[in-house]
Amino acid sequence: MKKTIAAKPKSQAKPKSKTSTAKPAVKSKADKKIAADASSKKQTKPVAKPAAKKTIVKTSANVSKKPPAKSKAENLGKKSKGAVTLVPKAVAQEMMDRLCKRYPDADCELDFGSTFQLLTSVILSAQTTDVQVNKCTPGLFKKFPTAKALAEANIEDVKDLIKPTGYYNAKAANIQKCAQALVEKFGGEVPETLEELTQLPGVGRKTANVVLGVAFGVPGWTVDTHVQRLSGRLGLSNNTEPHKIEIDLQNLYPEKDWTKYSITLIWHGRRLCYARNPNCAECPINDLCPSAQV
Ligand code: SF4
Repeated sequence: MKKTIAAKPKSQAKPKSKTSTAKPAVKSKADKKIAADASSKKQTKPVAKPAAKKTIVKTSANVSKKPPAKSKAENLGKKSKGAVTLVPKAVAQEMMDRLCKRYPDADCELDFGSTFQLLTSVILSAQTTDVQVNKCTPGLFKKFPTAKALAEANIEDVKDLIKPTGYYNAKAANIQKCAQALVEKFGGEVPETLEELTQLPGVGRKTANVVLGVAFGVPGWTVDTHVQRLSGRLGLSNNTEPHKIEIDLQNLYPEKDWTKYSITLIWHGRRLCYARNPNCAECPINDLCPSAQV
């Protein structure tokens, strides 16, 4: 389906590129002052008896065959919490330049015909794939094409139509409450600011940034599971909280490129830098990436 946004007059949209979306701060640790206990030095230390050596015989009972479980940080490409090697800004830019060459057509992969439909699709994409959402939305938007129609829909009909996306009870309630709020507060139109968008039911910063970037050309970072994982692996951020990663990425790259780079990272995460077994051998930045397994 062709992605066309016809819901907003041009004057409402920011004249930025359709696609595209960070500040590493190094804090020095204060040296710890170790107070000497003068009085204890004057005391005569008792001569400690050397402990008898214990001979430990390795048996199947005391030798663990299992390697230690990987922490969440290690799974994100970090050696341990806070131990990721941040790459220099020039390297971060080079990595992104190469990824953009690799994915020149990177774009939002959801199908929609209006900004309202994009917003609804992004809410539905939580905990599932865009492919799965695209299977459901043609039927949903045929029956309920506008915020007003969805606001007035029978909730059971909505649940039936979005069932394959999972968590359909909560999602049906979210998209309908969101549609109702759009009708009540914004005349059925999707607002164009992060502050207004994030006041809508079911809309967080991630969803709002997708809508702002894709529909209105407002640069923003969409920190989804892929951007979160890749930011750690590539050494772009040593944070794990989406909002902090977003700020790190904002400080690392030019604002005009935020949305494009955000979508490019998402594409790389979907096509090569998988959560499990990333395809480092085929990766165009494997000579720069601090997590490369080649
Ligand atoms: S080298 Fe491997 S871990 Fe690094 S970005 Fe490429 S696929 Fe991901």
